[in-house]
Amino acid sequence: MQCQIISIGDELLIGDTLNTNAGWIGQTLTEAGVEVTYIHTIGDDLTVMKKVLRQTLSSSDLVITTGGLGPTHDDITKQAVTELFDCKLVVHQPTLDFIKKRFKKRGIPFSKSNFHQAEVPDCCEVLFNTQGTAPGMWFDRGNCKLAVLPGIPNEMEFLMKKEVLPRVKKPAEKAKIHRSRYIITAGVGESTLSDEIIGDLSNLLNENIKVAWLPDVQGEKIRITASGFFQQEVDERLEKAADFIKKRAGDVFVGEGKELTLAEALGNLLTKKNCSIATAESCTGGLVSSMITDIPGSSRYMKGGIVAYSNEVKINQLGVKPQTLENFGAVSKLTALEMAKGVTQKLGADIGISATGIAGPGGGSKEKPVGLVWIGFYSKEQHFALKAQFSSRRSINKARTAVVAMEMVRRCLLQINEMPYSLKKHTA
Ligand code: AMP
Ligand code: MG
Repeated sequence: MQCQIISIGDELLIGDTLNTNAGWIGQTLTEAGVEVTYIHTIGDDLTVMKKVLRQTLSSSDLVITTGGLGPTHDDITKQAVTELFDCKLVVHQPTLDFIKKRFKKRGIPFSKSNFHQAEVPDCCEVLFNTQGTAPGMWFDRGNCKLAVLPGIPNEMEFLMKKEVLPRVKKPAEKAKIHRSRYIITAGVGESTLSDEIIGDLSNLLNENIKVAWLPDVQGEKIRITASGFFQQEVDERLEKAADFIKKRAGDVFVGEGKELTLAEALGNLLTKKNCSIATAESCTGGLVSSMITDIPGSSRYMKGGIVAYSNEVKINQLGVKPQTLENFGAVSKLTALEMAKGVTQKLGADIGISATGIAGPGGGSKEKPVGLVWIGFYSKEQHFALKAQFSSRRSINKARTAVVAMEMVRRCLLQINEMPYSLKKHTA
């Protein structure tokens, strides 16, 4: 079964609203075994709407539209399908009763445009919407089915799950199924990962095994998708491909799972090793501890963090020596080393990490350009700092620093000597 999605609304074209509906529908249909072949994004334009509807209805098994069902003058999806299918609008009494009741309960006056919300083409099956005032519509056009859904994401999702999926699942069961697994890596760039570490995959790939590279701030994700007609063969294909890629990834393999983050993988490892951590952050302003504490249950290993932005706090709270700051500056190897050691002792942790750098956009110099960051590590066994040179953008520098800091700890816990992005360990 092949499907095309039509996202409707001027706000999507000019960038006021991000088209999250298409992504959600694409993912949901793929999981249900329906192949999404096109996503069309169009404005509130009657001519374009009818043209795209005509085109898609003649070239796929299922078409889903979202948007343009609201009560305002620009919402014209209903008019487009009514004209296209040469039918007329009639009042859908259950919807009208529902809207009236809803308005009464909230004490809102019922207006003429709300009445129009309850009108539907007489050639459709109404998809009753208990989450809002715009009903969805289902059209059976012989070879092609059409679902017309509201644009508001939670209403669209409700109708997709309750009404659309049960209608499309049956034919899809006979079709090919697709399943994906996600391999998460960290501390390596996309090209190094694909060219050098994972390498040539041509022997692995075929029409039933596909691999996609998905860059992410917290690491590169590799999505493996297997297809087939039976669940077992798909699972076996997926298992074989995932094993192969994980083996090749070696030390940079962080874990598996679509939603898995580096912070979560690190948390699992700290828990397993019964190890606690503390952070001393300057240029990241608490981002590392924020990412660590985004994980539920992080209190098991996270002792705390000190945001030491000023020299005064670095000295008084972390025990950084005034001479260190005077002789080498706040952004230096020695400061990072002393911050990491200081926070470990002050907060009684097993591991301490620190970050001090020039986040930008201003404040750089020839010796210390914007994007220069020192990331410190302290434990009973090791005391070192990594020197990284990131970009000119503040938000990127903060995010990359946090990720390198977490990946540095993950590798130390696993006794992996090579540091993220092959950064060198500098000791006192
Ligand atoms: P509409 O049905 O066109 O009145 O859409 C109602 C609201 O839903 C819009 O104002 C947007 O905020 C939201 N919306 C519409 N289409 C989308 C979409 N494709 N993705 C996310 N939100 C959307
Ligand atoms: Mg609209």
